[in-house]
Formats: sequence, C-alpha cells, structure tokens
Amino acid sequence: MNRRQVIGSIAGTLLAASWRSAQAATSGGTKIVLLGTAGGPSPKVSRAAPASMVVAGGSLYVVDCGNGIARQIVRSGYQLKALRSIFITHQHSDHNLDYGNLFYLAWSAALRNPVNSYGPPPLVEMTKKYFELNSFDINLRIHDEGRPDPAPLLIPHEITGPGQVFKDDNVTVRAVLVDHPPIKVAFAYRFDAADRSVVFSGDTRKTDSLIELARGADVLVCEAQHLPGIRGLAKRLAADPSREQAIYDSISGNALSVEQAGEVAEAAGVKTLVLNHFVPGDDTVPEDVWRESAAKAFSGEIIVGKDLLEI
Ligand SMILES: [Zn+2]
Repeated sequence: MNRRQVIGSIAGTLLAASWRSAQAATSGGTKIVLLGTAGGPSPKVSRAAPASMVVAGGSLYVVDCGNGIARQIVRSGYQLKALRSIFITHQHSDHNLDYGNLFYLAWSAALRNPVNSYGPPPLVEMTKKYFELNSFDINLRIHDEGRPDPAPLLIPHEITGPGQVFKDDNVTVRAVLVDHPPIKVAFAYRFDAADRSVVFSGDTRKTDSLIELARGADVLVCEAQHLPGIRGLAKRLAADPSREQAIYDSISGNALSVEQAGEVAEAAGVKTLVLNHFVPGDDTVPEDVWRESAAKAFSGEIIVGKDLLEI
C-alpha cells in the first residue's frame, strides 16, 4: 500500500466510523455488533479474537472480551465510555484475555458510570488481581490526571447456574449452562430487548439447553467449526505428526461444527443465524463453504460473520 492508499484507507475507516456513530445515534433500534470473529487465542490477520456486543438505548452490553476488543469497539464507531455491562461466556483466554483491559481502557476514555460484569468463577478473583497488577499506573493517573479510583467502578458477579442474569430499561439477559469440556461452567446468553431478541451460543457441543434458550429468537450468533479445515489446522500445529489426531480431537471435540450450528438454528426456529467464532479463523475456508454447510440443516437467513459487522 502506498502513502496515498494508506491515507485513503484511514479516511475510509474514519468515515465509516463516524457514519456508524451517526447511524447509532439516530436509529433507536437494538443492534448487534461483531467485534471479533475468530476462535482461539492466537492473533489472526483478518479476524480478531471472540467479542461481540449488543447496543441498546445508547449503552454497550459486551459479550466476551477477546484480545483487542477495546480497539475493535473504537473501530466500530462506538464510544468506550458507553460501556454498561460485560458478560463472559466462559474462562478460556480467547474469551476473557482483555476483560480487565476493556474496562481499564474505557476508564481511561472518561468512563464514569459503574460497569457490572457477569461470568463463571473466578471472575471476582480475576477482577481483584487485575487492579493489583496495574496499581502503579492506576495510582499515577488518579493523582496525575484526577481520575476516580477505577476499582469500585467494575463490579463482578459470578454465576454458576442458569437463570436471569441482568435486567435494566433496555435489555433482559438470561443464561443457560452449555457443554464445553473440560470447562465445567460455560454459558450461552440471551438478550431480550423491546424490538428484538438475540442469543450468543458461546462455545459448546450440541446441547438441548442452547436450543431451548434460542427458541423463537430473532438472531442466533453461533460458533462454527469447519472439520476438514481443522484437519489442516492440526497438521500445521503438530510439531510431531503423531500428535496430529490428538490436536484434531481436542479442537473439534468440544464445540459446534458449522453443520451443527445450522441444526441448532433450525431446531430453535430462529429467523437469522449469524456464524461466528470461526475455526479455522484464518480465512482458509471460503465464505460460501461456511454458508452452504450451515444451510444443509437451516432454512432461514444465514449471515457469515465478519469483524465490525453491525446487524
Ligand atoms: Zn472455549
């Protein structure tokens, strides 16, 4: 990319961001924004780590905090200081690595309201240790820049079972336990707003609890694995060929294939299936293959997710 192309690209990104901001400010409807759509913690060129958000009533409700989420929110045209709540589906690093960083960067971007966070243990311990880890810089900014103490502003709530998790004027959030071994406490979340309902699968094997949660929802944002693609991934990851099958089993055995994502969407009767959390997440599997694989079982609308896509 030459200098002129770089400037053009930056200008395009800024225009897109300001257009989205203006659109969000003027349209009152609930939005879903995909912030990061690749499964797994290792950084990818074209997709960030798992993170999404629901935007309702001008507030941001984040689901999972993969690496880079704060920057992805800024790139999507929304303001970090609008952050209201954080929901962690499970404590795998691709879903929680920037949990503290998201709050911290929102605080440094003039966040003043409390943020409640919800997720499996050890969320409370993680929150406490995050502030300990960053105490040097926190103290500096409190005294140097006159910022409030951030620790009381992030309020963690550990959840261990199904039920209603959260309710405010904009959304009601419910959780169910899903099946994501070897992790014992992993959740899918459903957001019901006045104008639409959306379910985030988190990571899970095919399970009735997810189908029940998603029953009749407008949108299901569902993880998707492409099994032949994972064969290739296992080959690339295995330092020793004898490890290839074990790597394949470990990646493919605890989550939904893209075909199963279609089966779940069909069984639940959702209107729109949004494929997300792609594994492989490096774009070695073409978009049409993702769509056609989900369409084997699902007759509704299918959207192949992309970072920064607003739905
Ligand atoms: Zn996981």
